[in-house]
Amino acid sequence: MSRAMKQLFDVPAAPMIPLLGEDAGVPVRRIFCVGRNYEAHARELGNTVQRDAPIWFTKTPSAYCPSGAAIPYPPGTANCHYEMELVVALGTPGFRVEPQDALDLVLGYACGLDMTRRDLQGAAREKGLPWDTGKDFENSAVIGPFTRAARFGEPGAQRITLALDGETRQDAVLSDMIWPVRDLIAHISTLYHLEPGDLIFTGTPAGVGPVAPGNRLSGAIDGLAPVTLEITAPE
Ligand code: MN
Repeated sequence: MSRAMKQLFDVPAAPMIPLLGEDAGVPVRRIFCVGRNYEAHARELGNTVQRDAPIWFTKTPSAYCPSGAAIPYPPGTANCHYEMELVVALGTPGFRVEPQDALDLVLGYACGLDMTRRDLQGAAREKGLPWDTGKDFENSAVIGPFTRAARFGEPGAQRITLALDGETRQDAVLSDMIWPVRDLIAHISTLYHLEPGDLIFTGTPAGVGPVAPGNRLSGAIDGLAPVTLEITAPE
């Protein structure tokens, strides 16, 4: 090409998520998410537990919402649910990684909320259609600050909880995952060339439920900064 093409307008840069205790942030490249990764949660939604491969879906980086935000009740739904999850940030590239090497790719961990328009997801699921509008929408990927992997250690016995208006609704341990983090990374690395800034939402324990305007959500995992969210009136 002889002449540089003129860029017609600007689009936002990749969102950046703070790294705890450092003057640094993690830019978001892609957001991978796994469904039905805790047995009790798969059952509460009427699904059978699938053990042959993890169930993947994605969210666009524009779905990112920083922890501590107040967001309007999302459009197009009458049944928006919280799902409390461990979020993994990758800091090293990897392709066809073995499970025993998979945690070497991890930069850090954070608390996240996979906000879900359950009515849209359910209708799509029944018809065998994609989940996108139920899962990938503005403010649906709420993520707290990342803690470096070396500080957090390996995911295992840490407790994961979610409180709605101060009342505990989800309570499990990370070792309840059907596919542990190392297996998730190994599997997704057979499908994509993983790159720094790729994030993984690792699935939610039992106890998901609807939110309403005025609700305050607070999610915690031992050793990580919490994630919080307030729901305000719809636009
Ligand atoms: Mn989820």
